Amino acid sequence: MRMLIIEDERGLAAAIADGLASEGFVVEAAYDGVDGLWRALHEPHDVIVLDIMLPGLSGYEVLKRMRAANVWTPVLMLTAKDGEYDEADALDLGADDYLSKPFSYVVLVAHLRALLRRGAPPRPTVLAANDLTLDPARRRCRRGNHEIDLTAREFTLLEFLLRRAGQVVSKTEILTHVWDENFDGDTNIVEVYVGYLRRKIDAPFDRRTIETVRGAGYRLRS
Ligand code: CA
Repeated sequence: MRMLIIEDERGLAAAIADGLASEGFVVEAAYDGVDGLWRALHEPHDVIVLDIMLPGLSGYEVLKRMRAANVWTPVLMLTAKDGEYDEADALDLGADDYLSKPFSYVVLVAHLRALLRRGAPPRPTVLAANDLTLDPARRRCRRGNHEIDLTAREFTLLEFLLRRAGQVVSKTEILTHVWDENFDGDTNIVEVYVGYLRRKIDAPFDRRTIETVRGAGYRLRS
């Protein structure tokens, strides 16, 4: 289970992360609202723990923007009794559950397990752009009925572009997501791989799904 915690009190975030790691969760932490929202929108998580008072963007704003972007990952909000907002606001805004600070670790784990059992509402599992489809669970890519064989890196690159179909993504963004965060090589590798993909998903079918946006990056036509 992948969990994202968005909490600016690093001590608390670290304590929760350590505890949950020992329960088998893969925990990622963000320490401000902007980074938290970005991760919530672009990385897959099974559950998100979201604090309200955050630098950058408040927890409420993060939640609102997530839901507006159709990201339905279950969210547990951390509220403070003396805070500006209360639990009713949290639920109104689309949180799935809340916990008031201070809370015990045992109670947090119980709430998270309950949320995970309920799960997120069904989301489309197959990504598509016209007759190009990609099924991340089955690792399959097709153009119409035609099966396309992709390497692991090509697959990840196409999945990333499909998840952001219609948007321009820069080479740097692609590098960060598809290659390792610490990859320090040349961004030309992105061009090389976009070329490989085009030869497999576009050229044989006389399509131009992946557009080059001069000076900005690439855009997958949806
Ligand atoms: Ca806080």
